[in-house]
Amino acid sequence: MDNLILYVLIVGAIGIGWLLGRRDRAKTSEIVGPNYYQGLNYLLNEEPDRAVTTFIENLEVNSDTLETHLALGGLLRRRGELDKAVVVHENILAHAELSKEDMQGVQLELARDYLLAGLLDRAEELCVQLSQEPETGKSDSIRRESLKITLEIYEREKEWLQAIEVAKLLAVGGAVDHYEKAISHYYCELAEELLARSELSSARESVREAIGHDVNNPRTSLVRGRIDVEEGHYDHSIAALTRIRDQDPVYVPESLETLEDAFRLDQRPQEELRQYLTSCLDLTPSISIVLMLAKSIRDELGDEAVAKFIASHLKKNPSIRGLTQLIDLHIDNTHGVAKENLAILRSFAEALVADKPAYRCNGCGFEGKRMRWHCPVCKDWATIEPIFGLEGE
Ligand SMILES: [Zn+2]
Repeated sequence: MDNLILYVLIVGAIGIGWLLGRRDRAKTSEIVGPNYYQGLNYLLNEEPDRAVTTFIENLEVNSDTLETHLALGGLLRRRGELDKAVVVHENILAHAELSKEDMQGVQLELARDYLLAGLLDRAEELCVQLSQEPETGKSDSIRRESLKITLEIYEREKEWLQAIEVAKLLAVGGAVDHYEKAISHYYCELAEELLARSELSSARESVREAIGHDVNNPRTSLVRGRIDVEEGHYDHSIAALTRIRDQDPVYVPESLETLEDAFRLDQRPQEELRQYLTSCLDLTPSISIVLMLAKSIRDELGDEAVAKFIASHLKKNPSIRGLTQLIDLHIDNTHGVAKENLAILRSFAEALVADKPAYRCNGCGFEGKRMRWHCPVCKDWATIEPIFGLEGE
């Protein structure tokens, strides 16, 4: 489809150029015609590189032709031909005598090219310059767009403190909830980095900020629970982690490992853990929760009780991961051919889910095998959730 649009666009542009050239020629007797035919030739001979070069060399940039140049640049970028898109946009900036606002619009397009091409320093330099323009009329929307690109750059570079500053500026102009949620996650990112370096009091401070920007962000409870375990405050950790059920129960599975540690280290009764997990299961039919419950039941009540429990859950919410767990329980108590057959069945069941994604973004549909808080495609925060059902959670 893009090929067709490019073809039409270049033919159209060459036509406009030819007409303008003819008009100018009538006025000035200047000869400009043949290059347009040459451009058309390149296109017909499937030499788009040379057609683009001919196009930008021969169609003068001015307010009449600006849209055509921008359309070509945008199209090349969508096709992933970033080096050519950069040439088209840089050519406009080098040659055009446009209004200040039009020039800023082109600079923004160039910044988008740089961003996609991974030339983050150049994109940042352009956008910082654009975002410092005074806020009036159309330039305000350019300023806002350049801040959005700057934010994406800082996210990519994991420059969370700078991302926070830019998101705060954007939140002033609208979409407050969207940016507050993002800021809360930037602080969580910072807290996780600090936690990894065992800088616990700074990590705690970051989580506090994260809560201040989005009190219902379940990730804040998750990180807080981890910091509490590191500091030996197991009861606080349990209090933080069990809050996730009320914030957003689909993220309970992310907390189970730390929760299990906290219960063990605090020497709290397993019955209490089972009560909490059962209450979570009422809200979200997660197989990870079932398996943790099963582990706790098995330790205290034995194989038979746990097999019954898993089987009754599978009847309501069939899942392959649950099935393999059930097979494991039976394999231990089986011998001979039956044991071999169960092992074969288990490997089939495992193969069925081996390459299946476990998480999906509810914003753009991106699927992946591991949990991410930031969607790599739509760049939104906390839109990725476990996939439930036969092949998932
Ligand atoms: Zn997404």
